[in-house]
Amino acid sequence: MSEKEYIVPIGEGVYEINTGDWRTHRPVLDQDKCIKCGICLTYCPVFSIYKEGEEYRIDLSYCKGCGVCMHECPKDAIKMIEEGR
Ligand code: SF4
Ligand code: SF4
Repeated sequence: MSEKEYIVPIGEGVYEINTGDWRTHRPVLDQDKCIKCGICLTYCPVFSIYKEGEEYRIDLSYCKGCGVCMHECPKDAIKMIEEGR
């Protein structure tokens, strides 16, 4: 796959990089295990985790599937699952 397939023009000389397209695995957050500590939000390198009300959620548009959130979660509330499953 060429680099151009990851880069989307959004204006004259301005490009958006769809890092979500790089993903082979995606994070799934189990709200029942989550203690709302916010550690995953702090560590996500592309700011894909956000708070909605009392719950933390993951925006997959830019999530690159790095697994840092799963690694840092103290409650094992985030699992990485293979894309397409
Ligand atoms: S790090 Fe884990 S327990 Fe903390 S908010 Fe994120 S998913 Fe919930
Ligand atoms: S897998 Fe990586 S990019 Fe995606 S939400 Fe977790 S820390 Fe952020």
